[in-house]
Amino acid sequence: MYIRRAAAATLRRRLSRWYARSARDLPWRRTRDAYAVLVSEVMLQQTQVSRVLPAYTAFLRRFPTLAALSRAALADVLRAWSGLGYNRRARDLHRIARLHPRALPATREGLDLLPGVGSYTAGAVSCFSRGESIAFADTNIRRVLGRALLGRVASEREAVALDEQLVPARGTDRWHHALMDLGATVCLARTPRCEACPIALDCRSRGRVVRAAPRRQAAFATSDRRVRGRIIALLRERDRVTLRELRDAIGDARTDGLVDALQDEGLLERSGRVIQLPT
Ligand code: SF4
Repeated sequence: MYIRRAAAATLRRRLSRWYARSARDLPWRRTRDAYAVLVSEVMLQQTQVSRVLPAYTAFLRRFPTLAALSRAALADVLRAWSGLGYNRRARDLHRIARLHPRALPATREGLDLLPGVGSYTAGAVSCFSRGESIAFADTNIRRVLGRALLGRVASEREAVALDEQLVPARGTDRWHHALMDLGATVCLARTPRCEACPIALDCRSRGRVVRAAPRRQAAFATSDRRVRGRIIALLRERDRVTLRELRDAIGDARTDGLVDALQDEGLLERSGRVIQLPT
């Protein structure tokens, strides 16, 4: 979809004014340190802002630089990740630090090749740490740009194509933060607050979003993810356990298979009968 220059300028101006009044004050927005930005983006991939806030501060206090993280045992990194879930993300950050203990790659393409870093995260780190004027889209950006310009939520590819036409040459970090904040606080997934929206006049979906039924998720209590999380949590508490002790403590028939999977992923180690977090 082609966006006329005047329409793009109007949308940018309205959003910019709203952001000046309504920006969320988040600690990772006060730094240009690419490592700190990467930590925040990785944490935010699958965890709510309210849970990331204390974890981000504590993690950077413990591992303030890539070099510090590279020197740490993975077991300590996994302990510091407690409460965030999806432990592969901690493993990937640790792998990145071991690959690049001095500095992260200086290009988006280089970042994109890092373990656990996709196109969105590479773009966000380039933008928020170096101010690069590049297009990218997370869930909030897809929702806001899609609803406003297409009349529906956009796919990532569609949202990036829209963002390429809109992203300013300067202030690209503020532009993306504003889109994210609008999606997180006004253009909500189920109940958009169109009456409070600064770009309502530009929006094709204004007042028309049908309230979707809540999505049914696989019951967390019975999912593999839940059991994996319990295994890692137990290993955080007890340095070394046998498989039998682990089976007894977890009480789930999937324990053996999930221990094998976690070992394959480098999230635990086995030595004889002893299981522990990776050293
Ligand atoms: S007018 Fe409503 S649907 Fe459109 S961007 Fe704003 S909150 Fe979202």
